[in-house]
Amino acid sequence: MNVTHLECALCGLRHEANTLQNLCVTCGKPLLVRYDLEKAAEKFERAWHKEWHDGRKTLGDYFLNREASLWRYRDVLPVEGPENIVTFGEGWTPLIKADRLAATLPIKLDLYIKDEGQNPTQSFKARGMTAAISMAKELGVTKLAVPSAGNAAGALAAYAALAGMEANIFMPADTPRANIVECQQTGANVTLIDGLITDCGKIVAERKDEMGWFDVSTLKEPYRVEGKKTMGYELAEQLSRRAIATGGEANRESWLPFHLPDVIIYPTGGGTGLIGMWKAFEEMNRMQWLPPKFPRMVSVQSETCAPIVRAFEKGERFADEFENASTVASGLRVPKCIGDFLILDAIRASGGTAITVTDAELTVAVAEIGALTGIFTAPEGAACLPALRKLIDQNLVHENESVVIFNTGSGIKYLEAFGE
Ligand SMILES: *Cc1c(COP(=O)(O)O)cnc(C)c1O
Ligand SMILES: [Zn+2]
Repeated sequence: MNVTHLECALCGLRHEANTLQNLCVTCGKPLLVRYDLEKAAEKFERAWHKEWHDGRKTLGDYFLNREASLWRYRDVLPVEGPENIVTFGEGWTPLIKADRLAATLPIKLDLYIKDEGQNPTQSFKARGMTAAISMAKELGVTKLAVPSAGNAAGALAAYAALAGMEANIFMPADTPRANIVECQQTGANVTLIDGLITDCGKIVAERKDEMGWFDVSTLKEPYRVEGKKTMGYELAEQLSRRAIATGGEANRESWLPFHLPDVIIYPTGGGTGLIGMWKAFEEMNRMQWLPPKFPRMVSVQSETCAPIVRAFEKGERFADEFENASTVASGLRVPKCIGDFLILDAIRASGGTAITVTDAELTVAVAEIGALTGIFTAPEGAACLPALRKLIDQNLVHENESVVIFNTGSGIKYLEAFGE
């Protein structure tokens, strides 16, 4: 509705929005959706000024009557016709204050967990897929294909079944069993590959033209990142609501509605969520919803698959493929990703960092977080806890700061990781 065009994230070339697109036609990099943000903000601003002068406390009220799903942010999402939205009610996941967990840390922090395990198909991949499959429907696609490390496959299978489309899924043979079974049980064509997600991606690329598949590999079509960016909008809205509920006044001095945490810790595979949140912050800032200070973005990877951390440490903008990648946190087993420069640019622009944890550390952290919060996290999400401890040790997170860690999925999909 407010989309103006697609723009190459590297060379800036403009592409048409109302037709199927994968990568930039000149440089082969990801395309991002651009909106008429002034138009999107207009409705919002009218409500804001009215509410403010009526003595109500926040712009958050504007959203009160909107659905409890990520489609509450439809003004900044791509779908034109509401009838094309393919949804299970994903998003608007709880932001849980983890006080007992915070009490185990050496400094006092406001610690939150954004629990993405509560999404349909038990991971935040649902956010990306609701946007991508809705747009595929709007643009007349009937056959989809995806390479996946696990959760993207489960989400694609479900959304394709809901939309009545064909899902062709390529996964490593050692993907967690739950991911394989859920795809088979929701009508997808599943092919297991002796290799990594990058090998699966090559097969999709080779066969898609002949088979008539639309490739929904992350960041190789423009819309999964749009779905995932809503994590950034939600975080801002939820923190603002919380501040009001506890008697604070969100950014009253500056008259800005929403605010953000000091630090975001994000387990990074293809980086879609981190790139998306950064895009959301830039959009909100352009709409003047936010103060110009953004959170420090921290990318967490497993020591045995850490292409982004390695590139960050070397000061490089593009990341080399990580050889012999392996980790039980299957969502982090991405040895090479097309959005590497967008992840690295965002981390650096935010003043954040990228760090590794070991598989042993992240596996132990699942039980630790579980016992102190009741959330059975995915190993990927649990990786944020040892990462946070390291940040505190290195004096990169300070007393009284607010920190949000992303639990990107549910531990229930990874039973093999926990032994007998
Ligand atoms: C896919 C996935 C990730 C990595 O997400 P990106 O946004 O692609 O970096 C992390 N955790 C889980 C559980 C995942 O499924
Ligand atoms: Zn380009």
